[in-house]
Amino acid sequence: MFGECHAHILMNGYNYKEAVELHRDHVDEKTIRKWFLDYQKSGVTFIRDGGDALGVSVRAKEIAGEYGIDYRTPVFAVHKNGHYGGIVGRGYSSMEEYCGLIDEAIECGADFIKIMVSGILDFSCCSKIMCGDPLDEEEISRMIEEVHRRGYSVMVHANGKKAVMAAAAAGADSIEHGNYIDKDTLLMMRKKNVIWVPTLATIRNLKGSGRYPDTEIDRIYRLAAENVKSAFGLGVQLALGSDAGAYMVPHGEGIKSELAAFEEILGKDEKVYEYLRSGENMVRQRFSPCPKGNKSHPGLYDRVQRGQSPETYSGAVQIQGHQLLYFFNPVF
Ligand SMILES: [Zn+2]
Repeated sequence: MFGECHAHILMNGYNYKEAVELHRDHVDEKTIRKWFLDYQKSGVTFIRDGGDALGVSVRAKEIAGEYGIDYRTPVFAVHKNGHYGGIVGRGYSSMEEYCGLIDEAIECGADFIKIMVSGILDFSCCSKIMCGDPLDEEEISRMIEEVHRRGYSVMVHANGKKAVMAAAAAGADSIEHGNYIDKDTLLMMRKKNVIWVPTLATIRNLKGSGRYPDTEIDRIYRLAAENVKSAFGLGVQLALGSDAGAYMVPHGEGIKSELAAFEEILGKDEKVYEYLRSGENMVRQRFSPCPKGNKSHPGLYDRVQRGQSPETYSGAVQIQGHQLLYFFNPVF
């Protein structure tokens, strides 16, 4: 089975509030183990988490090995106060606070940084994005730059052409969701070698649930499907991540829904599977596990490969030395 490139081990797939209550006072390890068994049953051996504010993913990382799972986490996601993101992380008000938060995530053992730069879909109204305006281009670019300066990769939650374009242009390592974009945005993703994780299961699995009008779900899904089709045709790198834990997207089963969506859109073709495997491999390399406090993160090498100047990043010197060797002996 493919790896799960976007999950939230904190969430339970049906009720966010209940999930938070369960872990609020202390991390409920029993439940994490239950989800890991579900992943095992589905044959998933790789998970990239999208973060949470309660330390659930940190505990998950400590025990994932017992289930033969290579698990990566940003610890918590970072959002701007007054904008979307509180459900998976922590907020900042100034750039200084932002830098403090990413340093803290790194100090807590983050493998990469996750940032939120736009709102989420309103499933009851196609083309509408809820929970505030996207951050402006300059701020998005600064946020990404600060992560790269520390030698880490960045997973970016973004919806809407404006936010996705800004994140791609600034060199986001992966873009999550990416709804309501166009060909220009896809071309920018290709140019910057961004990995796009469209999380189609979050839309597709809502069909027939009765929670939202199916006509709207169909319209939203059709738009996403068209973009995925264009992305494949243009050679934008896609990867499978279902946002497992989100409503109607169960752990373990979610990635099967995501694959089914891709098969529906692109066909059950060996070329498609190969393309998705290469997307997963890129995620595994780019979001590679980082020993706590190690500033010479192997993800750096990947960015050098992508044609970005190593001088931009601190720790670049190590690229010339043993860090390269480390990269050629991948840890996964
Ligand atoms: Zn997510």
